[in-house]
Amino acid sequence: MTTIYDPKHPLYLDEADTRKEMERVFDLCHGCRLCFKFCPSFPTLFSYVDQHEDQDAGKMTPAQQDHVVDECFQCKLCYVMCPYIPELHEWALDFPRLMLRADAMRRANGQVSARDKATTAIMGRTDAIGTVATTPGIGAVTSVVMGSKPGSLVRKVVEKTAGISSVRMLPPFAKTRFTTWFKKRPKVRLTKRQAKVAVFPTCLVEYQDPNIGKDLVKVYEHNGIECSIAGDAGCCGAPFLHSGDIDSFTKVAVRNVKMLADEVRSGNDIVVPQPTCSYVLKKDYVDYVGGPDAKLVSEHTFDAAEYLVKLHKTEGTSLDTEFTGTIPETVTYHTPCHLRAQNIGLKSRDLMKLTGAKIKLVQQCSGIDGMWGLRAENAHLSLPIGEKLGQMVKDAGGDIVTGDCHLANTAINEQTGNKPVHPLQMIARAYGIPEEN
Ligand code: SF4
Ligand code: SF4
Repeated sequence: MTTIYDPKHPLYLDEADTRKEMERVFDLCHGCRLCFKFCPSFPTLFSYVDQHEDQDAGKMTPAQQDHVVDECFQCKLCYVMCPYIPELHEWALDFPRLMLRADAMRRANGQVSARDKATTAIMGRTDAIGTVATTPGIGAVTSVVMGSKPGSLVRKVVEKTAGISSVRMLPPFAKTRFTTWFKKRPKVRLTKRQAKVAVFPTCLVEYQDPNIGKDLVKVYEHNGIECSIAGDAGCCGAPFLHSGDIDSFTKVAVRNVKMLADEVRSGNDIVVPQPTCSYVLKKDYVDYVGGPDAKLVSEHTFDAAEYLVKLHKTEGTSLDTEFTGTIPETVTYHTPCHLRAQNIGLKSRDLMKLTGAKIKLVQQCSGIDGMWGLRAENAHLSLPIGEKLGQMVKDAGGDIVTGDCHLANTAINEQTGNKPVHPLQMIARAYGIPEEN
């Protein structure tokens, strides 16, 4: 990694150095313009530069630079598209990482409002909130707040106090946590063990949609893969990272890297059912923690469908391709940005194709990306992106809608009235594994 994107570099949080780098990169992007359609950041950037006759990106004010930074929601698609990334070109341009650096720099230099910090502090504490929300008795209060209708008085109060948009649909909390279910279920004996994994459930599966985790475990065990839970797995830290709170992120990351490296050393691969979190484990821990353990974790972490397809294609192991359950004729599949950014191909599509279903792809960002789209100040930018996604899903018209990202799925639900399922849940039903309540 170049020093420009190295969070441990002494100049990483230096304002003058960061703004100089923004000037360099904004000038290159203005000449290239390839990413015009991905998000509001690029049109905003180009409009500021075009205001000047000589189109000099160096004439942008700090406030204008910050406007571009604020409109980036870390989908990473510009990195996927860019021919000038550090691995390919001497310009060493990594736009999403520069946005992360600018966010961190502003926070370190006291340029983030108290309300913004409060929103990050609340949204980043997914484990604390999730634990309360799924605790019998006291959880009901959190569930009432999170489950209140968009636009309701309760949600307006939450927006005023916590900065969480009052108009967006929020993923509701479950009654029972995924790991509670896992620990309580009867011991499973595998007839033929092909592999051994530790599931990193992510807070979205742990607290909000444990059924994804239950189906993951059952599909894996159906195929002879022994499952355990990765140590004391909690949040990956993404909400902190994407808000520029590097100290809080690094604390979470250091703890997780140690725990996950121990899992790998005990013979487990790590599987993750949520793309943002698998991206963080594979890529961000290497940058922010570094060292042999972070590398080990990165090399042994897999997206949930990626792992199954790898097993199927590896000599000596295979998946059961006898599907005796319910198989829809056509499946609409939303490809999450953070899976595309992992550059692993469309493994969930490949997996679902094994059932014989016809897969229709929808490649459109949800505009949620982590928590960005749920912040009150971003809702007006995020909603039109979600609406476009909703329309594309409706137009695709599959018998069922699938998607790996629970937050994007919530945006699809918000826009279409139908809750998509994770691809592994589609596979579970295709095997005839019934859904648990
Ligand atoms: S990461 Fe996504 S949101 Fe951010 S600038 Fe790139 S394309 Fe836009
Ligand atoms: S990020 Fe890369 S591809 Fe996108 S506009 Fe900038 S230079 Fe072009």
